[in-house]
Amino acid sequence: MPDDTVIEDRRVLDLRYRMPISKISNFFSGLEKGKVSGTKCRRCGRVYFPPQSDCPDCMEGNLESVDFDGEATLETFTVVEITPTSFVGEGSYVVAVGLLKEGVRVLSWLNSADRGSIRIGMKIRLKAVKKNEGYYSYEFFPY
Ligand SMILES: [Zn+2]
Repeated sequence: MPDDTVIEDRRVLDLRYRMPISKISNFFSGLEKGKVSGTKCRRCGRVYFPPQSDCPDCMEGNLESVDFDGEATLETFTVVEITPTSFVGEGSYVVAVGLLKEGVRVLSWLNSADRGSIRIGMKIRLKAVKKNEGYYSYEFFPY
């Protein structure tokens, strides 16, 4: 029989980090304007989401910003009923993978009032959203 005795650390971690975003700043300013964007390699044409500042395929460092239409097909999803501490105020939510018509896969929440109607293969749309906490993000919605 496995020993499942554990000790819970009482310290609370306060983790903050800084990321340079100058090469992908269009992504963040775009969200505030209602646009979701990725980056496209000027050399090999590969499109990235989340936006990358450099192309790991060909080592190009001068990528261009591309706005996505948002139209996508739902490839898979799951309902998260037991939420992590960071989302404890959100209740359960749906995490989905959608394939944008631009050929890029996106992992995001799927915001649907009718979870029973969610089907793999359905059309969904990726949109910029302002979260209750005041920051901007993106979510899928039924088409
Ligand atoms: Zn490239």
